[in-house]
Amino acid sequence: MGVFGTPDAVNLAYRGLFALQHRGQESAGLAASQGSRIVHHKGMGLVLSVFSAETLQRLQGTSAIGHVRYSTTGSSILVNAQPLVVETARGMMALAHNGNLVNSASLRCLESEGRSFPLFHTTTDTEIILYLASGAADLRKDLPRLLAPLRGAYSLLFLTPRQMAAVRDPQGFRPLVLGRRGGAWAVASETCALDLMGFSYERDIEPGEILVLDRRGLLSARLPPSPHGRPAYCLFELIYFARPDSRVYGDLVQAVRHRLGRRLARDHAVPADLVTPVPDSGLYAALGYAEESRIPFQMAYVRNHYVGRTFIQPHPVQRLSQVAVKLSVIRDLVRGRRLVVVDDSIIRGTTSKSRIGLLREAGAREIHLRISCPPTRFPCYYGIDFPDAGELIAARKDVEAVRRHIGADSLRYLGLEGLLSAVSGPPDHYCTACWTGHYPVAPEEAMDKSRHEKEPSGPGGVAARKR
Ligand code: AMP
Repeated sequence: MGVFGTPDAVNLAYRGLFALQHRGQESAGLAASQGSRIVHHKGMGLVLSVFSAETLQRLQGTSAIGHVRYSTTGSSILVNAQPLVVETARGMMALAHNGNLVNSASLRCLESEGRSFPLFHTTTDTEIILYLASGAADLRKDLPRLLAPLRGAYSLLFLTPRQMAAVRDPQGFRPLVLGRRGGAWAVASETCALDLMGFSYERDIEPGEILVLDRRGLLSARLPPSPHGRPAYCLFELIYFARPDSRVYGDLVQAVRHRLGRRLARDHAVPADLVTPVPDSGLYAALGYAEESRIPFQMAYVRNHYVGRTFIQPHPVQRLSQVAVKLSVIRDLVRGRRLVVVDDSIIRGTTSKSRIGLLREAGAREIHLRISCPPTRFPCYYGIDFPDAGELIAARKDVEAVRRHIGADSLRYLGLEGLLSAVSGPPDHYCTACWTGHYPVAPEEAMDKSRHEKEPSGPGGVAARKR
């Protein structure tokens, strides 16, 4: 996210980052323009622990960009934290990126405009974007040409001492919105950040748009169109990733989840005593299910709010140890009862299994698991950290085998048609790759998360060894 054109830009951006914390918990950073310089601060962990009052004081400037990281390429280490900041021949430049490139390894070896890029300080896909863009004298004139080689998902914010630029890839995989407060502008992944900063939502940055903000005001340019030719909005943002109070691709997230639940109840009804969500991911779909089925809604699980989002931890060991402390069950509510349990998705199947196990131990009579999207069978290459296909339980087992593994009495998923009926855009404007295997932009290389750490030369190897 970023704020442009106000003396309290840094404090506002800091505030906005809190609203976006759910999008990444590994590291956080802010970069601000101070005259001809860009100053920045980054650290590992949550926004609250990364910035002190003194740090924020030192950063003050009239425009700022900020980032919270959820890694999809490159380890969770400080050198990979964003915004990335560099000194170029034309001055300083900072960059924050949400998404994931599908050709970063080939770009890292490429010679561009007679220059090659032999040195890398990070093992992210993001750094190559900065190298490409560093040739820009004017962001609006030069970025369309310089960013043309990028393939994949990128919602970007550039900051130079005088300009800020918001860029969204031609498919618009990840969301990016524009907000306004008087003469100041803000750009953020989600509208919930605008709300917290007191900015009004103006519009989405369009797929393929480069919006440059400077003293002259706002000016748009376009990236060259992609062969795919239409948007590929990530549906998983609506199902799980984004905050329920955000507006994403024109839809209120909470309302979409509610509709998913209603449809799930129509398509996969079952006699039961109560409907309960897996907190917090199944909450709104469970409300929709209960409303449609007229089965009472109850919160059978109690969530420990002092443990972060389980999946967002990159290491499996951390994930496992957290599941056990995150949820407990109200035994008196479930003992002897027939339950419909609603969740948004099953990914690896590990946490789902232990959650269902908790209900079983508490004496539930029947457990009917309902999932508000289709079976996740294919990895995501565009910025959601779905593991290799080998780790996705639905890629290896059919629905009956997944049911047995998890230990539910029945398991039903919402179909793709049902899912697409809950969103307001045309069905072919969304990315469905994780369910269908139809990738809107084909990966051009092996999409291993640590691919730049395995490069034979360069500091990628050094960074990996230092870890
Ligand atoms: P499991 O199937 O055991 O991996 O757990 C699935 C739960 O993790 C669901 O409640 C999802 O909401 C959540 N989840 C969402 N996205 C991911 C992801 N990228 N990786 C792992 N789990 C996720």
